[in-house]
Amino acid sequence: MVNSINDVRRDFPILNQRVNDERLAYLDSAATAQRPQPVLKALMHFYEHDNANVHRGVHTLAERATADYEEARQKVQHFINAASPNEIIFTKGCTDGLNLVAATYGEQNIHAGDEIVVSIMEHHSNLVPWQQLAIKKHATLKYIGLTSDGELDMAAARKQITDKTKIVAVTHASNVLGVVNPLKQLAQLAHQHGAVIVGDGAQAVPHMPVDVQNLDVDFYAFSGHKMMSPMGIGVLYGKADLLRTMPPYQYGGEMIGEVHRSQSTWANIPFKFEAGTQNVAGAVGLGAAIDYLQGLGMANVQAHEQSLVNYLLPKLEALPYVTVYGPQNPRHHTGVIAFNLAHLHPHDVATALDMDGVAVRAGHHCAQPLMEELGVVATARASFYIYNNQQDADQLIKAIKETKEFFNGGTF
Ligand code: PMP
Repeated sequence: MVNSINDVRRDFPILNQRVNDERLAYLDSAATAQRPQPVLKALMHFYEHDNANVHRGVHTLAERATADYEEARQKVQHFINAASPNEIIFTKGCTDGLNLVAATYGEQNIHAGDEIVVSIMEHHSNLVPWQQLAIKKHATLKYIGLTSDGELDMAAARKQITDKTKIVAVTHASNVLGVVNPLKQLAQLAHQHGAVIVGDGAQAVPHMPVDVQNLDVDFYAFSGHKMMSPMGIGVLYGKADLLRTMPPYQYGGEMIGEVHRSQSTWANIPFKFEAGTQNVAGAVGLGAAIDYLQGLGMANVQAHEQSLVNYLLPKLEALPYVTVYGPQNPRHHTGVIAFNLAHLHPHDVATALDMDGVAVRAGHHCAQPLMEELGVVATARASFYIYNNQQDADQLIKAIKETKEFFNGGTF
C-alpha cells in the first residue's frame, strides 16, 4: 500500500484507462468513489478464505467471518470516535440509516404539533423521510435557509429551532454547495431546546476527520461507497442511550432475543437494528477502506482536496460564462463544485465533457428544494477525491473551453 497522497493513483487501476480516446479525469466521487486495490484484495480474501454467515455458526469459517465483521465495526467506531462499537449499526447506506432513524426514533417521538427542522440544502435522503414523517404525524417541517454567500444561515437556524423542535436533521457537508456546516453549533442549539440532532455525513466522513463525540450528534449516517468501500454498506451511528430506547427497524432473524408464539424480545444494540443476513463482505471492504484512509491520514486527505479546490476554483471563476454555486472563497469550499455554463443544459455540458474524458455529474443532485432556492433546475458538478490531481483540474478547464466553442462557436 502507498502511504503518500501524491502517488495513490497507482492503487486505482480503473483510473488508468482512456475514455473516448482521452485520459480519464474522474471527477464524480461525490456520487461514488473508486476502490483501491487493498479494498479489492480484502474482498477477494474474504470470499476466498472466510466467507460464512455471521453470529450463528460455531464452525471455524463462521467464527472467522464473525470476527471480520465485528473487527470492521470496531474500525468504524475508532474512525469516527464513537464511544462504543454498540453504537455502530451497519446499514445499506446513508439513505437506509436516515430512514431507520425516522421510522424508529421519529415514529416514537414525533407527535401532532411538533416541529422537525432541516436545511434547504439537504439531499432528498435527509429530507423526504422527515417530510413524510411530519405529514403522517401532523407535525411541521421547517427549513433553515442560506446566506447570500451560499452557506447555512445560522441566524435563521437560531430562529427556526425552538422548544417545539424535536428533531434537527442537517447535512455535515453539502453535496452541491461544497460547504461544511457547523454541526457542533447546531447540536448545541438543538440540545438547548431538548431536540435531538441527526447528521448526514455522506459527504463529510470520506473527506475530513470526523469525531461524533466532539460534534455531540445524536445520530450520524454515512455510506461506504463514497469512501471507497463496496456499494450496499453504510453506517448509522447513534448514542447508545437513545438506541436502547428505540423500537426495531425491521423484524426477523439476527435481531431477536427470544421468539415465542405470541411475543418476542429483541437482541441488544446494535444487533436489534441488523435484521437478516448482513452485508459482511461490504463491512470487510469498509474496514479495508478505513485502513487505507487512515494510512493516508484524514487531515492529509482534506488538505489534498483543499489544494485542488484552491487551484481549480479561481480558474473556473475566471471564465465569464461559468457560474459557480456555493461560496466563492476556496477556503470555504470542499472538493465539491457545482457550476453551470451560460444557458447550456448541464446534461449537454456533462455529455460534452465526457467526450474529453472528463466524468462529472449533471442534474438536480437529489436536492430539488435547493435547486429551486438557487433558481436553477440542474447544475453540473465536479468533485475531487484523493486520487485527483492538477492534471484532472486542467483537463476539466480545457474541456469546458472546448464545450463553449462546440456549442456556440464561442459566442457567449
Ligand atoms: N446525503 C448526501 C449529502 C449525499 O450526497 C448522498 C449521496 N449522493 C446521500 C445522502 C445518499 O447516499 P446513498 O445514496 O449512498 O444512500
